[in-house]
Amino acid sequence: MIRQAVQLIRKGETVAFPTETVYGLGADALNPSAVKKIFEAKGRPADNPLIVHIQDKEDLKRLASDIPEITEKIIEKFWPGPLTIVLKKSKIVPKITTGGLNTVAIRMPKNKIASLLIKEAGIPLAAPSANFFGRPSPTLAKHVSDDLGGRISMILDGGKTKIGIESTVIDLTGKTPMLLRPGGVTLEQIQKLVGAVKIHPMIKGKKSKLIHRSPGMKYKHYSPNAKVILIEGSTQNVNKKISQLVSKFKKQQKRVGIMSTQKNRIYKADMTRFVGSSTDKIAANLFRLFREFDAQKVDIILVHGISKKGLGLGVMNRISKAAHKKIRI
Ligand code: AMP
Ligand code: MG
Repeated sequence: MIRQAVQLIRKGETVAFPTETVYGLGADALNPSAVKKIFEAKGRPADNPLIVHIQDKEDLKRLASDIPEITEKIIEKFWPGPLTIVLKKSKIVPKITTGGLNTVAIRMPKNKIASLLIKEAGIPLAAPSANFFGRPSPTLAKHVSDDLGGRISMILDGGKTKIGIESTVIDLTGKTPMLLRPGGVTLEQIQKLVGAVKIHPMIKGKKSKLIHRSPGMKYKHYSPNAKVILIEGSTQNVNKKISQLVSKFKKQQKRVGIMSTQKNRIYKADMTRFVGSSTDKIAANLFRLFREFDAQKVDIILVHGISKKGLGLGVMNRISKAAHKKIRI
């Protein structure tokens, strides 16, 4: 299977593969016509840059220029793993890969199939999440075929992805590292290693002129078809609010789903799914459940907010981006 995938990559075709975060749709990052196929298959806007996946730290020097000192410390600690770094790009990286930016996002994944594919191909792979644009990221090979079947050359099935939300993205081109997307590596872990880290204002839910630093942020992401309502507050208050909302929407003849963080709690909704009580489990199940709710054609998904500590920051970022409405009580 890997051999066939390698041949397709070398011919400039697209191959979906598992990583420890979500499934990626890979193609030769240095071949503009191969990269174009990724954008076409996903329906992804051309200004939304791709992450380049490597297997050997030495490749960093080929792909990036003016690499700051702090980079070594960060990759030493977090690579291979779910951390993407943004650096000034070198000449060999085509503009189509970086969405027209003069910076490039690079990551070294930990998943064995991903590493093997990159190593055997001997080519850095541009690979965004392997979902159709705007849909929740795929955590199973089936999600990839549901969205992109017939539009891509091959899918390598590696089972369920471990982390379930995408990599953390950190920009190292400024004086102080800036978190552009919370993800698999936590903000606390990075702060512990390097000290001060700026947080992009959009992560805090603010509008920002810094949008050009991470164009992907401006797009609504990860959305199921159903309307997601995020409810934050104490467990007791949230439960009360959920019950009220279920009654309200049922009166309007809507099909209501609930994503619950309490294992045995029963609601009067059309569909209740337990997403997990620990942050790790919630991250691992979140996108799959969004897709399951859609398959059952619910109109509304009520989601219980969680703490933004650790992996919770990334989880809440994805739910917020998917949300049609947020309620804090
Ligand atoms: P995806 O792989 O689909 O999760 O999307 C890749 C993410 O990385 C998007 O949010 C991009 O905006 C971000 N990204 C990729 N390249 C860059 C870059 N050069 N500068 C800032 N953000 C980037
Ligand atoms: Mg994506």
